[in-house]
Amino acid sequence: METAMYMRREVIGDSKVNVTEQPVDVLPLARAIAEAKNMKDNDEAFMIINLDALYERFKLWKRELPQIEPFYAVKCNSDETMVQALAALGVGFDCASREEIDIVMRMGVAQERIIYANPCKTRSFIAHAEEKGVTMMTFDNAEELEKIAKHHKCPELILRIAVSDPTATCPLNLKFGAEPVKQAPELLKRAADLGIAVIGVSFHVGSGCNDPSAYRVALGHARNLFDLGLGLGHKMEIVDIGGGFPGGEHHTPFEQIAALIRSAVGEFFPEPEVRLIAEPGRFFAARPFTLVANVIAHTAVPAEKITKNACDAAATGHMYYINDGVYGSFNCILFDHAHPTGRPLFDIEGEKYPSTIWGPTCDSLDQIEDKKMMRALDVGDWLIYEVRYICRSIIDRYRTPTIDNRPDDRNLIARSLQDMGAYTCAASTTFNGFQRPTPIYVIGERTWKALGM
Ligand code: PLP
Repeated sequence: METAMYMRREVIGDSKVNVTEQPVDVLPLARAIAEAKNMKDNDEAFMIINLDALYERFKLWKRELPQIEPFYAVKCNSDETMVQALAALGVGFDCASREEIDIVMRMGVAQERIIYANPCKTRSFIAHAEEKGVTMMTFDNAEELEKIAKHHKCPELILRIAVSDPTATCPLNLKFGAEPVKQAPELLKRAADLGIAVIGVSFHVGSGCNDPSAYRVALGHARNLFDLGLGLGHKMEIVDIGGGFPGGEHHTPFEQIAALIRSAVGEFFPEPEVRLIAEPGRFFAARPFTLVANVIAHTAVPAEKITKNACDAAATGHMYYINDGVYGSFNCILFDHAHPTGRPLFDIEGEKYPSTIWGPTCDSLDQIEDKKMMRALDVGDWLIYEVRYICRSIIDRYRTPTIDNRPDDRNLIARSLQDMGAYTCAASTTFNGFQRPTPIYVIGERTWKALGM
C-alpha cells in the first residue's frame, strides 16, 4: 500500500518524509492512509504534515511582503521537521526560551537568524543566549532592561510596545508591551543612560488579528520611537511587526492585510536601510497539519440529552468518543479559542442526528464538539478536522462560545478557517496515557527539490 502511495522516502532530521510524484493532495491521501490502517486493524489517529502546503505559505509571504523577513515563531508549533524545512528556506526564528533557541541552533541556524522575542526572560536563559551568540532580544520594562544588562555583555535590544487589535482571537497586550507614548520614550532614555544598545521597535497586534488597521497604528508609533531613539544616540535599524497573520482563509484575507502593511511601511518607513522583520506563527504552521482521528466508542442516546430540548425526547442522538481530545491536539479549544469541526473522512449520505464528539480521556471537560448534526458513524470510522474561529467581540457579545443553535452566527464562524497546525501539537499532552497522533510527513517531488535538502 505504502509504495503505491509514495515514490520514495527521504530524511529530514530524525523524520522520514514520504515523497509523492505529484503535488500532495491531502484528502485522497488521508483516505488511502485510513484504508491502509483499516486493513491492518490500526486505529491510531494520524496527523498528515504536508510540506507542500508549508512551501505555498512561504511563497505567499514572499509574494505579498517581500521586504519583510519572516522569523517563524517556534512556540506556535515546534515540530522539528517543519522547523528544519523553514530553516532550509532561509526563514529566521522567533524563540521564546532556551529550549527553542537550542532546537533551531541544533539545525545549524546561525545566531543572527534568531530573535529572543520573549519580553520576560529567565536569567539563566539570557546567559545562555549570550553563550550562543544570540544578541537580538525584546524588552518592555526597566527591570528587564537592567536584568538583561547584568546577564548579557552585548545585547541588541528591541523595545516592544503595546498596540493591539482588541478583536484579535488572542490579544497579547494585557501581558506585554510598553505604553507607546509615555512609557516607551522613558525606556529609550533609561537604556541610553545605562549605555545599553536599543536597535529597534517591535509589537504584536494579537494572534488571529481581525482588524489589520492595528498594524498601521503600531507602525506610526514605531516611527516616533525610531526618531526619538536616534536622537538619544541609539542605532535604530529594525522594525519587528510581530505576528497575528491568519493561518488560512480569513474574513480579512492575508493579501488585504499585507497590502495595508506595505502601504503603512511606505508611509512611515520609506528608507530602504531600515530592516523589517516579522514573527509569523500560525501563518506558517496552521495549513500543513491535517488531523484524522478514529471513533473508538459510540453510544446512541435520546437526542434530548444532546439538544437539551424536551421535544427531542423520542428522537435519537449519538455520542462518539475519538482518540484525540482536549488534552491532545484539541487543546486549541481551551488555549486558542478554536472551534474544531470534524467531518466523516468518507462522504456517505445518510440521515443526520444531533451528535456530541468527546475526546478519549476520563474527564468530561474533554469535549470536542457539541450539538453537531452529522450522519451516523460506527466504531472504527474516521473524522478529519479543520478549525474555525470567531471574532472575540462576537464571543463577548454572547458570553458563550456555544454557537451551533444560532444560525445567524454560522456565517461569522465560517469566516475564519484553518487547518490543525497552529497552537495544537505545541501544548498537547499524553494525559490518561493517550498518545499524540502519529505524524506522517509528505512532500511533492517539486517542493523537495525546491528545499534543496
Ligand atoms: N511573537 C510573539 C512574541 C508571540 O507571543 C506570538 C504568539 O503568541 C507570535 C509571535 C506568533 O503569533 P501568531 O501565531 O499570531 O503569528
